[in-house]
Amino acid sequence: MPPPPLIDRFGRPHTSLRLSVTDRCNIRCLYCMPAADVQFVPRAELLTFEEIHRVVRVAAGLGICKVRVTGGEPLVRHGLPQLIRNLDQIDQLTDLALTTNGLLLAEQAESLRQAGLRRLNISLDTLEEATFEKISLRPGLDRVLEGIFAARRAGFDEIRLNALALHGLNEKDIVPLGQFARQHQLELRFIEFMPLDAAGQWHSGQVLYGATVRRRLEKAFGPLLPCPRKDPSQPAVDYQFADGKGQIGFICSVSEPFCDRCNRLRLTAEGQIRNCLFGNAEWDARTLLRGGADDWQLADLFRSAVAAKKAGHGIDTEDFVRPQRAMYQIGG
Ligand code: SAM
Ligand code: SF4
Repeated sequence: MPPPPLIDRFGRPHTSLRLSVTDRCNIRCLYCMPAADVQFVPRAELLTFEEIHRVVRVAAGLGICKVRVTGGEPLVRHGLPQLIRNLDQIDQLTDLALTTNGLLLAEQAESLRQAGLRRLNISLDTLEEATFEKISLRPGLDRVLEGIFAARRAGFDEIRLNALALHGLNEKDIVPLGQFARQHQLELRFIEFMPLDAAGQWHSGQVLYGATVRRRLEKAFGPLLPCPRKDPSQPAVDYQFADGKGQIGFICSVSEPFCDRCNRLRLTAEGQIRNCLFGNAEWDARTLLRGGADDWQLADLFRSAVAAKKAGHGIDTEDFVRPQRAMYQIGG
């Protein structure tokens, strides 16, 4: 008999896993990482590819069918295509995707595609090098753009750009990003800045809300028409440009939380299962893996994480407590 699916106390089935393969990164986005002196997880504490594969195989047996590989920057993890190839062998997975900052994509796009990766999200907050350096504290916009085009050539037909818009920093990039996405037939999504920056400086005044970004795009391109939701649990609300040239989405985690349809679990690079980006509770898969546990025990760990899931993240409430980990330590 198949094991019961991962349904929580609020009736939400869990079918999606965010898989962080590293907390390391080749840039230092100010909304994510510390600017300097980053304390990375020692390599021996990171899950090996074999351990990751085992955890995902167990999760897939519990109804997880979508996996997104992330980090830190996943492309800095040595030999990543091999992990992708192994994950692609898991029959129950219907969707295998990856989120990257794109800096190493030109070199790796071909091997990732050949390994079985189907979808890519590439983060792009600006089309100006000076702004890129202000946000990520490192140079490299040209490499990100090369990465996007290399991914196209490698045969990725589902490429989405993720942009995070911040007051006073890249507001002027909203319309050029819209133009770029339309010109190159790429889907674009704007994500609201969440209180997960390592510096702990987040305040709501910095957040450029989805509704504001949408108004600015409508002023430049004309009305945006709502698209029907493809997947009931998708966090983004999608729109089409009225002239039919492209699609744009908004992930309004702060202004319009979507916790009531959350279907996600997370596995950190050092093997902690998390049931919410904003929670502090973790379920330690690594200790089980390294202590000789069987698959049933791992499955029970997933069930415990799902059973303990809260109704929502509560960013908008007065008693909200920021998670101890920053975004790069969880996996965005
Ligand atoms: N390094 C890869 C990248 O940047 O695409 C993958 C990991 S990154 C943590 C995944 C996504 O999280 C990126 O699109 C990034 O913009 C987003 N992100 C990081 N910090 C964030 C924050 N505080 N609020 C909202 N999104 C954030
Ligand atoms: Fe690195 Fe991605 Fe975090 Fe930027 S958002 S610092 S690219 S992990």
